[in-house]
Amino acid sequence: MQEGFKLENQKLVEHLKLMGIKDEKVLNSILQVPRHIFLPKNLWKVAYSDDALPLEQGQTISQPYTVAVMLEALELKKGDKVLEVGTASGWNVCLIAKIIDPGIIYTTEIIKELAEFAKKNIKKIDIKNIEIIHTDGSQGYEKEAPYDKIIMTCACKEVPPPLFSQLKDNGILVAPVGSKFSQQMIKIIKQGKNLNKDYLGDFIFVPLKGKYGF
Ligand code: SAH
Repeated sequence: MQEGFKLENQKLVEHLKLMGIKDEKVLNSILQVPRHIFLPKNLWKVAYSDDALPLEQGQTISQPYTVAVMLEALELKKGDKVLEVGTASGWNVCLIAKIIDPGIIYTTEIIKELAEFAKKNIKKIDIKNIEIIHTDGSQGYEKEAPYDKIIMTCACKEVPPPLFSQLKDNGILVAPVGSKFSQQMIKIIKQGKNLNKDYLGDFIFVPLKGKYGF
């Protein structure tokens, strides 16, 4: 990574620590994956600010703090099989891929142009344990189910039922649930027929589309 970006990324990680992020695996992964390469060039100067930033097609790359909260909640481990709904830039999927290697992350994106954009971005760094699928991820990705962990990076009214059935027993799902305009981050641990829920605070995401979308 270029020296200037490296310093900015280190500052971002220090800021995330001050905000309460403790998981070393998550912080290291953010240090290792350059965020600017997932953004259009005109945004490189603000790539390491703790902000959500605009992408094509009215979508956004998530705010680093938000991403860090979600990844910490997922309790990621080496060898995990993960599903993400909402690839967009591909930044989040790369952060997860680094942590779970040699596990695999499958990520779904409903907008074809963004699935292509993410593929191009990911080629620029040496990460192989990712599969990007252009599909309606509100229905999950049955082909590779069940998953140890599932993360939704777009807002839903309620967690789409197929995602629960595609989650392993003792698996963890993290998703922003609420209205189109504001959501509660929910962490769910599946234990047999029980779904144990924990609330992680208020956040704002772009809305889920597709069969179980808004
Ligand atoms: N994780 C991303 C940010 C996600 S933004 C990153 O690291 O950059 C949310 C994305 O979810 C958008 O790209 C949007 O197109 C996508 N999306 C919305 N509904 C979807 C669906 N049903 N299936 C898959 N992707 C969806």
